[in-house]
Amino acid sequence: MLNPLIADMLGKVIDISSKTCEFKNGLFGRCGAEAAGLCQYCGRPFCAKHGVVLDDDQQVCNRKVCLAKRMDLLRHLEYKAAAEELNEAGVCGLPGCNAQIGAQCTRCQAYFCPRHAFGREELVLENRVRVRRMASLCKHCADRRPLWAQR
Ligand SMILES: [Zn+2]
Ligand SMILES: [Zn+2]
Ligand SMILES: [Zn+2]
Ligand SMILES: [Zn+2]
Repeated sequence: MLNPLIADMLGKVIDISSKTCEFKNGLFGRCGAEAAGLCQYCGRPFCAKHGVVLDDDQQVCNRKVCLAKRMDLLRHLEYKAAAEELNEAGVCGLPGCNAQIGAQCTRCQAYFCPRHAFGREELVLENRVRVRRMASLCKHCADRRPLWAQR
């Protein structure tokens, strides 16, 4: 009997050796080449030509929405680092604002003045039921949501 934790981890390892690239090649349908990785955003296998496997184990395919997510994540980390720095000085996380902190964004966890983070209704899944709840979001995080809702 395997340690359940190890068994769980092993269960998550997906064997890609039998998979082929699902990237759509214009009019010719799926690429079909041997898979080199599995996209962390859409879950589709991709070949060496149609995606990247990075040193830090990120695997992202070349679909437009997946590339956009990768770029967005990089930008988001920069945004967050800048906001945290401003928060340490006790001011709103938006560069140039300098107003006093009012609310915390539930997404990036940074603090903003009441003008730059405000309550929005959002739909969340709770026990498989969609419920509306109020969450404070900064504008940056609110703007990112349509992208991340795509698959
Ligand atoms: Zn993808
Ligand atoms: Zn391919
Ligand atoms: Zn935010
Ligand atoms: Zn502000």
